[in-house]
Amino acid sequence: MFKRNQPKNSSANQAGLAEMALKNIHDGVIITDKSGVIQFINPAAITMTECGSADKAIGLDYGLLLKLETKEGRELSDLENPLLQAMNSGQPLDSFQGCLIAGQSDKRIPIAISVLPAEGMGQNRIITFRNITKELAEEGEQTEFISTASHEMRTPVATIDGYLSLALNPQTATIDERARSYLAAAEKASKHLGKLFQDLLDVTKLDDGKVKPHFEPVEMVGLVKTISDDYIVRAKDAKLNFTFGSSDPISFGEGRQMSQVVYGFVDVNFMREILDNLIENAIKYTPAGGSIYVNVRGDGDRVLINVTDTGIGISADDLGHIFQKFYRADNSDTRTIGGTGLGLYLVKQRVEAMGGRVWAESAFGEGSTFFVSLPRITSEEYEKRMIVVRNQQLQAQQVQPQATQPAPQSAPQIPAPMAPVMTPAPTPPPAPPISPPAPPTAPTQPAPQINNNLNGVQQ
Ligand code: ADP
Repeated sequence: MFKRNQPKNSSANQAGLAEMALKNIHDGVIITDKSGVIQFINPAAITMTECGSADKAIGLDYGLLLKLETKEGRELSDLENPLLQAMNSGQPLDSFQGCLIAGQSDKRIPIAISVLPAEGMGQNRIITFRNITKELAEEGEQTEFISTASHEMRTPVATIDGYLSLALNPQTATIDERARSYLAAAEKASKHLGKLFQDLLDVTKLDDGKVKPHFEPVEMVGLVKTISDDYIVRAKDAKLNFTFGSSDPISFGEGRQMSQVVYGFVDVNFMREILDNLIENAIKYTPAGGSIYVNVRGDGDRVLINVTDTGIGISADDLGHIFQKFYRADNSDTRTIGGTGLGLYLVKQRVEAMGGRVWAESAFGEGSTFFVSLPRITSEEYEKRMIVVRNQQLQAQQVQPQATQPAPQSAPQIPAPMAPVMTPAPTPPPAPPISPPAPPTAPTQPAPQINNNLNGVQQ
């Protein structure tokens, strides 16, 4: 049998091995005390931060060494800086991608940075970070390929869609009922494909940093309500109860948040996409007769939004994966519900681009709650930022003297009507000729059994 070599188990030996590992790994490791003062730094962190030596770093505030900006090279305000938030709150941070501004050379190094509050050691924080230049380059190539491919494939799909609608339109084609049911299934599948390509394009634009948040000061209760209101009819059609703002007695208590005025500094289009995805999922994954609740409230220095449903729920195994690209839970319920597995990935990216966090709580068969936590601003900060916005509007009007709109006199409490979602309008199908040409090869075989299961994109 296997013979185990007895390890030298003295604590001195264990400590020696741990020290060797920390010295040799390529990841930067910094340990701070509760207030962020550096207690330990390993050689990789010394090299990446260009701080010179451990002696120079120990005793400094971590913020002097770990200056971050976004992956796209934009400055991170305190509100958006997840490292700062994690360090201040003692909450973990998992692999935030940004750029480290190295001390001496001012060089930008793309990194993924994590914070772990150390267990059982006072309230130390362990910060780890690694250089992701190579990963990003590889991702960039992949993204470009997917982007080109989805772009190219959208055109034929739009053509197929156009011909299918012609075939299904009694004014342009005469078909029997059996053919109609086959073509209707084909049309459903082609719409699914079109949505998949659109989602893929959105994801690739996001991944290569082409879509950047445009921050605005906003009153969040009004914003979330305006977006949610668009779903009242959809929910009713699906025989679901839809409630804004008064549901979750555990988190909120009898609708108190309705009277709250909560300010945020967010991208309104991103907010719409996030809520669209979460509410559409709640509708999609909740059988008729169920309920959906959307709530928003202030929670200390955060704005907390939840979308809760009483639907099919998510198993513990799936819960850890649902925010990954293309992940779809595979069970008898989800198999019959179409989807691409990209919506929650988009949600996570959008939320994080605004300095927020998204997570889900669920019990299989009992419903789900998706939480979105975003930085909150005070009413004073809101007013200050509104002054900046008004000044920018004034300047823009001076640059364009032909504009006749007067400048707004006072800051609106509820955001102006939202601009449409940022996703580009789908390419309209090229107008097919009135009598479509015959397909290249007329099918001679009987039509195959149509498989209505559209969950073909699962990995
Ligand atoms: P999809 O297009 O499949 O809905 P998403 O990324 O939006 O993709 O969601 C990923 C997976 O998470 C879904 O396939 C589903 O299994 C699960 N999911 C998301 N929202 C809910 C919900 N409200 N209730 C139950 N399952 C959900």
